[in-house]
Amino acid sequence: MKKGRVFSGARPTGRQHIGNYLGAIDNYVKLQERYDCIYCIVDVHALTTLEDTHLLKENTREMMLDWLAAGLDPEQSILFVQSHVPQVMELHTLLSMVTPLGWLLRVATFKEKVKSQPHNVNYGLVGYPVLMTADIVLYKADTVPVGEDQLPHLELAREIVRRFTYLFGEVFPEPKAKLTTFPMVLGLDGEKKMSKSYDNDIELAASPEVTMQRVKTAFTDPARKYRNDPGNPDVCNIYSLHHFYTPKRLEDIATQCRGAQIGCVECKELLAEGINKALVPFRERRAEIARRKGYIDEVLADGARRAHAIAKETIKEVREKMGLP
Ligand code: SF4
Repeated sequence: MKKGRVFSGARPTGRQHIGNYLGAIDNYVKLQERYDCIYCIVDVHALTTLEDTHLLKENTREMMLDWLAAGLDPEQSILFVQSHVPQVMELHTLLSMVTPLGWLLRVATFKEKVKSQPHNVNYGLVGYPVLMTADIVLYKADTVPVGEDQLPHLELAREIVRRFTYLFGEVFPEPKAKLTTFPMVLGLDGEKKMSKSYDNDIELAASPEVTMQRVKTAFTDPARKYRNDPGNPDVCNIYSLHHFYTPKRLEDIATQCRGAQIGCVECKELLAEGINKALVPFRERRAEIARRKGYIDEVLADGARRAHAIAKETIKEVREKMGLP
């Protein structure tokens, strides 16, 4: 007996990197055992920034390929693309009628976007939390895996649900946060979160050679200028990545780094070897799935069909409660 229904969505960013895996996908895979999971690639959300929209299709497929290779199971979970179930747009419009504008203008991420893209402050940016609420409640999900930083967004979704219930009666469960401590994975620059847009990532699907090259470009302890200088693993991002990929060697590496017994080049090679070894099963599965012509389309079509079956019932209830003729 499963504990409830999980919903989570992610923007179509194409091939996933090890930060995506450690910060989200790994958790998605584990949740499948205990919950009915609905995982969605939120392509409409991606339109709020209008970046790389010509890559939306390709990025969606590459991302789904990575999800499948990482262990998301289309038999167990519903895997689909947001825009393939258009009822979410309808619910977004209907929920926008019960959402005070003041709530949306106060959202910190909206204020940040106004600053970062002043040339494109579109309505979609303001309505983003309403669409996010529609994503969750359209499928009557009661559980949403979030990190601490996303709690305010989920609280807003809960407020929108409460307001709808107060005005029209109960249709949606109030979604609860499943608080997860996601490791913060820094990129190869050792400063910013690992992200494609900062070009500081290591793709899960990269070849072993590319992985080795990428790791070699990484910044380490900035105070360690020469091979004979002692290093400080506590301020080195290569060391923090060793936690995930060579956990058994951690103590040795720290001691050898502090005693200048290991150079950064060697340390990076050890890390790249650890990453490549850990990703062998993923990369084999990915290649195998990629060879199955039409398989991704089948998975997405089946996911959309199953998601649509739930969505259409929810929209029927919402329309009735709101008195739409
Ligand atoms: Fe970082 Fe390893 Fe170099 Fe130490 S030896 S500074 S842990 S890369």
